[in-house]
Amino acid sequence: MADVSTQPSRSRDLDKLLLRAGNLVDPNFEPGQELRDDLQTYVKVLVVGAGGLGCELLKDLALSGFRNLEVIDMDRIEVSNLNRQFLFRLEDVGKPKAEVAAKRVMERISDVNIVPHFCRIEDKDIEFYNDFNIIALGLDSIEARSYINSVACSFLEYDSDDNPRQETIKPMVDGGTEGFKGHARVIVPGVTPCFECTIWLFPPQVKFPLCTLAETPRTAAHCIEYAHLIKWNEVHGGKAFDPDEPEHMKWVHNEAVKRAELFGIPGVTYSLTQGVVKNIIPAIASTNAIISAACALETLKIASGCSKTLSNYLTYNGAEGLHTKVTEFVKDNDCLICGPGVLIELDPSITLQKFIDLLEGHDKLQLSKASVTHRGKNLYMQAPPVLEEMTRSNLTLLLFNLMGKVSKDIVHVTGTTSKNDQKSSCLRKLRVAFKGVDGVTDMDTAGGA
Ligand SMILES: [Zn+2]
Repeated sequence: MADVSTQPSRSRDLDKLLLRAGNLVDPNFEPGQELRDDLQTYVKVLVVGAGGLGCELLKDLALSGFRNLEVIDMDRIEVSNLNRQFLFRLEDVGKPKAEVAAKRVMERISDVNIVPHFCRIEDKDIEFYNDFNIIALGLDSIEARSYINSVACSFLEYDSDDNPRQETIKPMVDGGTEGFKGHARVIVPGVTPCFECTIWLFPPQVKFPLCTLAETPRTAAHCIEYAHLIKWNEVHGGKAFDPDEPEHMKWVHNEAVKRAELFGIPGVTYSLTQGVVKNIIPAIASTNAIISAACALETLKIASGCSKTLSNYLTYNGAEGLHTKVTEFVKDNDCLICGPGVLIELDPSITLQKFIDLLEGHDKLQLSKASVTHRGKNLYMQAPPVLEEMTRSNLTLLLFNLMGKVSKDIVHVTGTTSKNDQKSSCLRKLRVAFKGVDGVTDMDTAGGA
């Protein structure tokens, strides 16, 4: 057996960053062994998603010296995941991704503790997320990112000059990939733009005009969508197309091939048909590896201060050659999510029910089915039924009294909003101020009221 002392330490590379001073370090950075130990002992990181990016992230973070990791994912392993979600094996198919990913990383990397959570991100209460120093996102959905972003930003508090309070900032590192393209970004709520500040970065999904499909197809995708959207209905009238039914998919593929031959368009394959119909963008393992490496490094920088963090959005494109660039986006000061909050002025005589009704009609919020929380206390919850019943009697009470008779304070509401006809759950921060009320005016003291 080799002498352990002659083997290079696992933290050899990490030590180069953590044990030495440098020009690019954070002003509070104190290099040394202690920093490395503290990082391992005290820093808790949550990885959201245990798919292509999540598997990479967990492994990278564990190898970067983080010892306290948790991972949350609601999905089970599918055969089609195995080509890139490298922590999973054939015998794992059907098992929860989070549980298998945590187990596999712990088997390979000693001393790391990973707690898996096999559930929806909405199933955890908000305080669960407050327990982490950093949240790393390895997600493929805009809605899920938006939700975690709103949760992390809900912890943010501003002082009376509208400056963010340092201790309430919950940093996030967000990775995303789409084929050969990807991004890594650092979100420091109140300092850098949050996910919602730059939501316009995600263009609406491209839909082909039906006339193009019917008359002037130019690409293989056009031929597939013709077979899927037009031909299927012509032939099967009324019978719904089921993307999970192989016979249906084969039929669409055959029709698309005929169409492509007619117009001399190459490239219609069965897997492309599946991709177009199910709107699947092929996942590339190397893109996931590159993006998650960037995210893990940013997580390490935030946790240790060993270098300035990415400011604040890195894009990577490996489709033709390799191109990577960092763009500094700016914060939207009116952002509903990371801003100081939507100011709502109310009469002290308003009941909780009236307040909930008002949120639905509010032009900036349009929040229906709102649940209301004040300083961690549920004033009214729409679900689950047990909580609804417990809080229902509050509806007829005065909001002013329920909030401890303070003249103004932050209230959190969750509910559904519809944007572009799409309903999504969201969490909003409101700055409630009661008109004509003296007494406690400073938000800081509201907690003691
Ligand atoms: Zn924002």
